Amino acid sequence: MGNTAIEWADKVWNPTFGCTKVSEGCKHCYAEIISKRFFEWDFQDVRPVPHRLQEPYKWKSPQKIFVGSLSDIFHKKIKYDYIMEILQVIARNQHHTFMILTKRAERMDDILGIIPDEMLSSLKNNLWVGVSVENIKRVHERIIKLNHWHHCGFITFISCEPLLENIRPDLEMIDTGFVDWIILGGESGRNSRPLMINHAREIREYCKLHEIPFFFKQWGNWVYYDDQIQWMREYKRNLKKNSKYVFVDPYGDTYIRASKKMTGHRLDGHIYQEFPKRSDEKAI
Ligand code: SF4
Repeated sequence: MGNTAIEWADKVWNPTFGCTKVSEGCKHCYAEIISKRFFEWDFQDVRPVPHRLQEPYKWKSPQKIFVGSLSDIFHKKIKYDYIMEILQVIARNQHHTFMILTKRAERMDDILGIIPDEMLSSLKNNLWVGVSVENIKRVHERIIKLNHWHHCGFITFISCEPLLENIRPDLEMIDTGFVDWIILGGESGRNSRPLMINHAREIREYCKLHEIPFFFKQWGNWVYYDDQIQWMREYKRNLKKNSKYVFVDPYGDTYIRASKKMTGHRLDGHIYQEFPKRSDEKAI
């Protein structure tokens, strides 16, 4: 248990399980799909998983660990004391880097705000705190909650997966000098929504302009159709007319639906897999 195919992490650690939908990005929750496929537990029955608390101690070499890939640890059903236990494990495993990603930015902010100073100073060495944003509304609601933690010394990040709107103008409006890393990705699954190439390019250009490390994770199950790429040409040619495997976005760009293995993680032919650096300039 622990290894992951998630492109920006070495391990996943799930000391909590389950979640409930909170915003538009949750519509086709991947954690829920995976949970239904592999676990007998009810995904909506949010709970701590105490027997997993010790897992990070077993990994001797340094790992980048995504905390809570099958849940949101700041869900209101996860009690404060148990979240403290999770944070204690993180603080005591300084050789690892832990990444917590949440859509409950307000609760994360509240809880980090009341933990003891000693623990906080350990955590900022090896905990990255991130929020998911899928559209303009969530940009304004969640990103601002990272501001204080960046200035306290934490690495902060946002994950735009799935990205459903062009959020660049709103990122510019907020002036995200306190965001250290941006991850972008498309949606996977049977009913997934296409990631529009215009929106993806806007994020990439925003990162370039503001010198924010950019990680393009994957297309998901829809990929921008590029007729210069042979497999795409052949694939599209073999599709039936009016196929539900082809989508044209409001900008006139075309997408084809295919397996994640086929759609891959190249944006305009390039792989973007940048990571943030710590303030001591040591690359992670
Ligand atoms: S917050 Fe995350 S884990 Fe919870 S339902 Fe939404 S997408 Fe799924």
